[in-house]
Amino acid sequence: MPGPALVWFREDLRVGDNPALTHAVETGAPVLCLYLFDEESPEVRPLGGASRWFLHGSLTVLAERLAAIGGELLVMRGAARTVIPRVVEASGASHVLWNRRYGAEREIDAEIKARLKEAGVEARSCKARLLYEPGEVTTKTGGLYKVFTPYRNATLAYDPPPPPLPAPERIEKGSWPAAIRAEAIAIADLDLEPTKPDWAAGLRETWTRGEAGAQARLASFLDGPLSGYAGSRNRPDLETTSMLSAHLRFGDVSPRQIVHAALHARDAGRIPAEDYDMLRSELGWRDFSHQLLFAQPDIARTNMMRSYDAFPWRQDEAALAAWQRGRTGYPFVDAGMRQLWTTGFMHNRVRMVVGSFLVKHLLLDWRLGEDWFWDTLCDADPANNAASWQWVAGSGADASPYYRVFNPVTQGEKFDPAGDYVRRWVPELAGLPNTYVHRPWDASRNVLERANVTLGRSYPLPIVDHDEGRRRALDALAQMKKNAA
Ligand SMILES: Cc1cc2nc3c(=O)[nH]c(=O)nc-3n(C[C@H](O)[C@H](O)[C@H](O)COP(=O)(O)OP(=O)(O)OC[C@H]3O[C@@H](n4cnc5c(N)ncnc54)[C@H](O)[C@@H]3O)c2cc1C
Repeated sequence: MPGPALVWFREDLRVGDNPALTHAVETGAPVLCLYLFDEESPEVRPLGGASRWFLHGSLTVLAERLAAIGGELLVMRGAARTVIPRVVEASGASHVLWNRRYGAEREIDAEIKARLKEAGVEARSCKARLLYEPGEVTTKTGGLYKVFTPYRNATLAYDPPPPPLPAPERIEKGSWPAAIRAEAIAIADLDLEPTKPDWAAGLRETWTRGEAGAQARLASFLDGPLSGYAGSRNRPDLETTSMLSAHLRFGDVSPRQIVHAALHARDAGRIPAEDYDMLRSELGWRDFSHQLLFAQPDIARTNMMRSYDAFPWRQDEAALAAWQRGRTGYPFVDAGMRQLWTTGFMHNRVRMVVGSFLVKHLLLDWRLGEDWFWDTLCDADPANNAASWQWVAGSGADASPYYRVFNPVTQGEKFDPAGDYVRRWVPELAGLPNTYVHRPWDASRNVLERANVTLGRSYPLPIVDHDEGRRRALDALAQMKKNAA
């Protein structure tokens, strides 16, 4: 008599387009659903605060969704190498299914798969997280692409990816043995949400976690800002992007669901083709980052270009704290850092500017920025965060060259022309006229007085002069080249 099919949920907290779940149902066996919170395996990077908060919501909704179609989500805590084989043995599962991950954790998965196979259990892993997995789209010689544009062009030959799978209508629930049920814990017992202090009010206002929240956000993106996205996506003042990143991080939604919904809108003439192409390209960056992570699982710690090991980073706790708290004296940078702190999100253009400011104007190691984002972003992602920080620092694959130093004032004036984004997140500057909102130090005493701004008191003076910071950064680059020679 074959046993039940066990679905091990990880970063795929949805029932729609979830191949592991669908294939488990297709076995015809009763289905057991498990989420294992693993902070013990050395390959797993513990989640940051904002991600823990997000995970709590996505898990809660997944449990509800599964219950609505007859299933049940059991939650456990522990190291996967120990817990999964024990659960499989105790439950008598004859099939174990999961969706693949691409960082260092894949070592765990490979070991478990081998052990299960040895024990005569059918272990099956599926593609769910990406449009194309590392190794699916390769160079002519079979290698991984290191430059985005040829990678993206190569994916065009495969597009569109297969359509998403519908959610199973019904799950026949398997029964858990008492010993395993006794080890199960409530989602609340994972202590993922902050209590004292409860700093998550801004996050709650910003996100509706879980599958339904993701679908609602996708629908409103398709009906609204996706038209015109190619032209407007760089404007943080206009809310023109999808804000699907945290949902993608935890798998509330799949990239295939997004691509096919957007394709449908394009083919029905509801959005221009160029907007579809741009969205598809951004999702291509996501796949590309995962490919980089796959090739270098320690991408969050080790420079992809090893010449950067010789970079003369400074140590400056005060400057780091000013950056983290949004008190650098550059309004566009401070607005971004405060948006992040309050909502667990920051617009992509602003991420690039604050990142450049940290590694260039402040000459602080990109890993400090990556760590801060890891803790504060709801979408903090092992692939996208690390690859993007290395892109900003110039040490990554297809990176922005280090000598290209973003000017935080002109970036602000270009992408937040009326200063609305700054006024929203740096309210102490709200009374300044547009001309000065990105450069308050150029305003006359009268203008400042009228706006109720006292530089150095109500709002900081710049912690580093732009030209000086730029010169110092370029000197450091020259020094690195000498050190590395
Ligand atoms: C320093 C830095 C750190 C970053 N850290 C993360 C991170 O931890 N997690 C994360 O998901 N993204 C990260 N990004 C990429 C990008 O900023 C976010 O994906 C994007 O801002 C999310 O907003 P959105 O969902 O509205 O994007 P949209 O513009 O609506 O794009 C749709 C989706 O495409 C993907 N995408 C868009 N831009 C990129 C990109 N440049 N690289 C990879 N994928 C992309 C995301 O999954 C996004 O949800 C980082 C960028 C920088 C410069």
